[in-house]
Amino acid sequence: MLMIPGPTPVPENVLLALAKHPIGHRSGEFSQIMADVTANLKWLHQTQNDVLMLTVSGTGAMEAGMINFFSPGDRVLVVHNGKFGERWAEVAQAFALDVVEVTAPWGQPIDPTTVQAALDADPDKAIKGVIVTHSETSTGVINDLETISKHVKAHGALIIVDAVTSLGAVNVPIDEWGLDVVCSGSQKGFMIPPGLGFVTVSPKAWEAYKVAKLPRFYMDLGPYSKGAAKNTTPFTPPVNLIFALQAALKMMKAEGLEQIFARHHRHMLATRAAVTAMGLPLYAPEGHGSPAITAVAPTTVDAEQVRSVMKKKFDIVLAGGQDSLKGKIFRIGHLGFVCDRDILTAIAALEATLSELGHTGGTPGAGVAAAAKILTA
Ligand SMILES: *Cc1c(COP(=O)(O)O)cnc(C)c1O
Repeated sequence: MLMIPGPTPVPENVLLALAKHPIGHRSGEFSQIMADVTANLKWLHQTQNDVLMLTVSGTGAMEAGMINFFSPGDRVLVVHNGKFGERWAEVAQAFALDVVEVTAPWGQPIDPTTVQAALDADPDKAIKGVIVTHSETSTGVINDLETISKHVKAHGALIIVDAVTSLGAVNVPIDEWGLDVVCSGSQKGFMIPPGLGFVTVSPKAWEAYKVAKLPRFYMDLGPYSKGAAKNTTPFTPPVNLIFALQAALKMMKAEGLEQIFARHHRHMLATRAAVTAMGLPLYAPEGHGSPAITAVAPTTVDAEQVRSVMKKKFDIVLAGGQDSLKGKIFRIGHLGFVCDRDILTAIAALEATLSELGHTGGTPGAGVAAAAKILTA
């Protein structure tokens, strides 16, 4: 049972779609699937902008989302408070962009006024783009993208968003908030295996694309956009992953966006309440937890031992901490194809694990009771 922030669990009818024979990607049959998938991707992304599919992981989607709109030496503001946000500064540097940074300590949300201040200090509009991570998976913190996007719109730079663990988990109304480029990956909220990256592109971003001079070929979004208009792709796509995507999008439509967001919110609340009731400290502060993942910073037990017992005794895989958080936190993923029963199971197994490890901070059963209270409310 995977409770990590990607790859996430895959429903059986999606697995069955993967098991089909591949078909020719230049066939009419495949074009029909592309048309269906493209329309449903626009629905999921709440946008009229292009939603392009690339055969890449989430990082590839972000790289494509960054390199298509700038020229060497262009200044970009990278806003970061965790491992993924830091990566976008590294990508920008690798492509010879002039990187300025606004940060918050790991485990804390970005204060939108710090972004506003950095943009106010740029009256000449040297900053061409602002890169923001919405749900910072490494720490389980969600950033206030709506407010940050307002400050970026007021300045006029492009806003490029890592929505890898927020898309399909929490409301990201791309058109309403005016988000120029939004990137995500298939193994997160999409309920399909790794391998597809998604990038949305606004008309304003396409204007920037026309004059952008960073080198690009496989990641050049122009051919993907031309292809999408004809329900095709510039290169051989992972045909079976697209079958899987079609099946997953159908399930999402049947559930409904509001319901999907409500489910992730409920799972976040139940997990956080249970962790607190077990006497374990949450890593992300109240009101700033990600609906995709809950990070826990235990003090009475070893985070890696918790993961090890959960895996060995209960076959539940939790994520560990990255970089400086290694051994300090464990992370419970509740993203994508997760139901209330999965949360109760994970919490019950965690309580049993804690008692095996000699944790004395909470009354046995208190975690399950706290989760159940929220799940049955
Ligand atoms: C998973 C993830 C990514 C992408 O990682 P890949 O391994 O390249 O798919 C990017 N940003 C966030 C916030 C993520 O959680």
